[in-house]
Amino acid sequence: MALQIRNLHKSFGGQSALERIELDVGGAEFVCLLGPSGCGKTTLLRIIAGLMAADGGSVSLNGRDLAQMPARERGFGIVFQSYSLFPHMTVAQNVGYGLRIRGEAAATVDKRVAELLDMVKLPSFGARFPGELSGGQQQRVAIARALAVNPSLLLLDEPLSALDARVRADLRRELREVQRGLGIPTLMVTHDQEEAMSMADTIVCMNQGRIEQQGSPQDLYLRPRTRFVADFMGHSNLLPAALASALVPVLPPLPADIDAAGALLCIRPERIRLEPAAGARGEVTDIGFLGSIQRVRVRWGDQALLAETSSAMPLSVGQRVSLAIGAADCSWVTA
Ligand code: ATP
Repeated sequence: MALQIRNLHKSFGGQSALERIELDVGGAEFVCLLGPSGCGKTTLLRIIAGLMAADGGSVSLNGRDLAQMPARERGFGIVFQSYSLFPHMTVAQNVGYGLRIRGEAAATVDKRVAELLDMVKLPSFGARFPGELSGGQQQRVAIARALAVNPSLLLLDEPLSALDARVRADLRRELREVQRGLGIPTLMVTHDQEEAMSMADTIVCMNQGRIEQQGSPQDLYLRPRTRFVADFMGHSNLLPAALASALVPVLPPLPADIDAAGALLCIRPERIRLEPAAGARGEVTDIGFLGSIQRVRVRWGDQALLAETSSAMPLSVGQRVSLAIGAADCSWVTA
């Protein structure tokens, strides 16, 4: 493992911000720290960067403990949400900054800057100033600047969240492409579940200073273990066991680590099969068209459920529908 974090903790004025954090990031792995505001994501990133000291525990990179190493000696690439480029320097000067302060020759710096600007698809922008760039372009420059020094670790704190949806989608893909190409271990903070799912090899879902669950995007989506993770992964069909058994004829077996009393059944919306049927118990209350799929709200007794079907399925509000849900379409979580 490139980065190893063991039993890390941190408090502010007696309030715990991080508790017993254990985390590994592999050689070329892209890890997303996902969680709501205040859960400790930025604090964790700042400790790893060396911008803040932990109260206890260890952070090591390639077997070397970082406790005594100042931030500037760590050689990490860091990109923040706010573009934080030097406004009085050109794009090329910004990108070459880290190389110049290392004392690299001007020709070497120029060559590397040109390569990096190519990589982030801004080849002819070197002479511009940050104020003359869009938000997305500034963030590309910030990424190029972070990569200039061949960092041993890339730390990204919500780098895309100030951008509009289209630019953000492009940059997600490009950032991942660049990171894959260079094979740099990367930790990215985000509170956006979709962003984490589309980019991460591993998602680390945090709640109140603790790691609630970590695994591949598929793992967290298909097998959330707690209500918090299920909520955060966008699941809205969470039913108490008594109700669930009325709706799902064959329930999945309850895992040993989940207490039956508080268990909730998490039903995946795309797996609910709706069938128009006069007199059926379900009633369509709303339909949201999303292009190829539609999001269908169904009232079933007192329960509101969300289903996703192909948009080709003709449905209308007020229509009665039957619901078919099997054991493989759902999983148990703890409340
Ligand atoms: P956001 O997504 O809003 O940035 P976050 O998950 O990154 O949130 P942190 O910024 O790490 O959360 O904060 C975690 C907790 O620690 C919060 O309760 C915050 O108020 C507290 N905290 C963070 N930095 C400090 C500080 N310097 N002094 C006191 N409390 C702090």
